[in-house]
Amino acid sequence: MYILNKTKTIMLKTLSIILHLIPLMVLSQYPCATDEYNKPFIEQNPQRYDKIEKDIENYLRGPQKKSEESYIIPIVVHVVYNDWRENLHDSIIYQQLKVLNDRFNLRNADTVLLTDTLQNWKGNFKISFELAHLDPEGYPTTGITRTHTNVGEFSYYSNNVKKSSQGKRGWPNDRYLNIWICDLYDGLMGYAQFPGGEDWSDGVVVDWQSVGDRVYSWTYPMFNKWAKGHVLVHEIGHWLNLHHPWGDWGPCGDDHIPETGLQDGPIYPSAECPDTLFSQCDTPERVFVKHYMDYVGADCMCTFTKNQVVRGIASLETYRIDLLNNYVPKPQLTGFENTVVRPSFTKGRVILQFPDYEGELQIIIYDMLGRIVYREYTTFPFIDMRLNLPNGSYLIDVFKNTERVFQRKIIINSASPYGASLKPIINKNKI
Ligand SMILES: [Zn+2]
Repeated sequence: MYILNKTKTIMLKTLSIILHLIPLMVLSQYPCATDEYNKPFIEQNPQRYDKIEKDIENYLRGPQKKSEESYIIPIVVHVVYNDWRENLHDSIIYQQLKVLNDRFNLRNADTVLLTDTLQNWKGNFKISFELAHLDPEGYPTTGITRTHTNVGEFSYYSNNVKKSSQGKRGWPNDRYLNIWICDLYDGLMGYAQFPGGEDWSDGVVVDWQSVGDRVYSWTYPMFNKWAKGHVLVHEIGHWLNLHHPWGDWGPCGDDHIPETGLQDGPIYPSAECPDTLFSQCDTPERVFVKHYMDYVGADCMCTFTKNQVVRGIASLETYRIDLLNNYVPKPQLTGFENTVVRPSFTKGRVILQFPDYEGELQIIIYDMLGRIVYREYTTFPFIDMRLNLPNGSYLIDVFKNTERVFQRKIIINSASPYGASLKPIINKNKI
């Protein structure tokens, strides 16, 4: 009896361990839920998705845009946060934006990872993403919205992050690419809507811990291999109608990209980061590994392929053409080229001068945790600030209306020989 009970206990314990491991095992297979998210829409509206494919084919048969054509896509970033850490500072969002713009314009240095043969297959989208400067009603905006939620974790199947009751309603998808940043459940990194879904839910969703350009102290350890801003690159690839290389529901499905080859499933991060691998489909094929639409990880994925770019641009020029047609260029701001900050290593006193600008400006200083530690308005061409702040690095942001026109980092340190709070700064040229 004792032995039986003991065996039973061991079995129950083993079962319990396995049950606990299942979510991890499943989720490690699905850092991206785009296929699962889109499947019901595609199954319910096959004709709509067939038409999108036909439009792409027709576009590719016609006179295509010249290869030097470039695009600007206005984006709005909806930060939906439950705790303060999820309310990412603007500077993290700018770092993410730089990753997008570098990688969609092939400005990233890590394409040296590609061998000579694969160098010929790298693709340049020439798409620049720009934070919206006007909101849907035409008012100036920073292109970032912030919404507090009581929801601890969001899921792709409820899609609640896009609903005003629990998250933030998207802006019109014929004028903006909506990007939601929130806490996704249990290690899910992101999901995107392919062309063809409903307008209100169009856009991409990424977990807050995947955003930025590096692995941060707050990055979920499971995300370390995929973070550095690559999750959003991957999801925007889906939004441009790119599929996983193993096809929609895999294995060995069609991603409509000839050079990626038939693939039996995701390729996960490995220390080797090979250029190509043999897939295990009926006829083993050599498949291209190092592109953003696979799961190979941030240290290995470094490009879109040529035909991924062709397909993505064809989708943009057909299904998402309104977004290009409705683009309103940002007015060019002048008058801040000669802005002076002195000293930048200071005990506490800092003077900002805007020699070429007249009008009201708002100055906000953030600490490195993104907290506002100082705010002041000025209508003078300079501002003399005496900052009683702890030693550390700070960001000075200057806003005209709601638009950031200037940013500079300063270091406050009591050991600095400059900027004592009571000593005037002497202009030596005038002595
Ligand atoms: Zn994906």
